[in-house]
Amino acid sequence: MKSALRLIFAACLVFLAASSLPAANKTPSENAYVSVTNIASSVGMSVKKSEADGHVRYTLSSKWSTVELEEGSPVCRVNDVQLHLSAAPVSRGTLLYMMRSDYKKTIEPLLLPQKFAPAPDLKTIVIDPGHGGRDDGAQNKAAGIKEKVMTLDLATRLKTQLEERGYRVLVTRTKDEFIELPDRPAYAAKVKADLFISLHFNASTDTSVFGAETYILPPAGRPASSNSTYDQSPVAGNRFDEWNVIAAYYVQRELVNTLGAADRGVRRARFAVLRPLSCPGMLVESGYVSNRTECAKIAQSAYRDKIATAIANAVDAYSRTVRRVQSAQ
Ligand SMILES: [Zn+2]
Repeated sequence: MKSALRLIFAACLVFLAASSLPAANKTPSENAYVSVTNIASSVGMSVKKSEADGHVRYTLSSKWSTVELEEGSPVCRVNDVQLHLSAAPVSRGTLLYMMRSDYKKTIEPLLLPQKFAPAPDLKTIVIDPGHGGRDDGAQNKAAGIKEKVMTLDLATRLKTQLEERGYRVLVTRTKDEFIELPDRPAYAAKVKADLFISLHFNASTDTSVFGAETYILPPAGRPASSNSTYDQSPVAGNRFDEWNVIAAYYVQRELVNTLGAADRGVRRARFAVLRPLSCPGMLVESGYVSNRTECAKIAQSAYRDKIATAIANAVDAYSRTVRRVQSAQ
């Protein structure tokens, strides 16, 4: 009994060390944190340190990839695409440290996808047009725009483009009807989807906010990108953590590069449509209807076609990575 108590006490200490930011005068615990220099040498990347406005920035580079990390900022960039980490990297002495779980769940899958179990061959895609029926979603009343109408229209355009590229595509709704949130991932499981894409448009009380965001589940035990107090226990969708971030990275990259949207990054949220997923998946917020300029774009069918092209390009990039990893194993 005594030794069991000691074990529990030791486990609590480890947990505390792993869950709190390191004290300023201490080297971060190697259990919870890893130095960016160590990461770089383990993956064969060079490191360049720079300082601006009192912040320390590390740029890791190889022939193929660039990773930028900044002291005090939870936002990193991989090949110029923003991704939100669960904690900001911290400087100690001459080194920058990041949470090991942030490296494992956000950066490593993008640098070394072949390290992880392959995702299923990408054949069937379920597109989920957000909202519907009595649930209008976000609105811009002045412009006469309802999110539920825009997501259904975008889903139809995306379905056409993906089918032209040879995928089997199913949608969770084809008309203006209300569908319960759990029924959407349940449908993806029923049709044995290999990828789930929930389509949304965003709104903010701050009408100056605009740009694209792609959401995936936070890893178990890590917080969401907003100040969510949601239970952090593992959920079914966490089985695909590595492929979730790979798929979301491509979607965010294409929304920025193909569409020209402002980059608000890959973010983390335990959305009801993502938690029970039986395949990799994400929720895409292609723009803000609350911003006058972006809403005017979203209202144009040519712009919605371009959003569909951006997401379809991302799906192709994801599929190529899945096949590359399969053939390497
Ligand atoms: Zn929505």
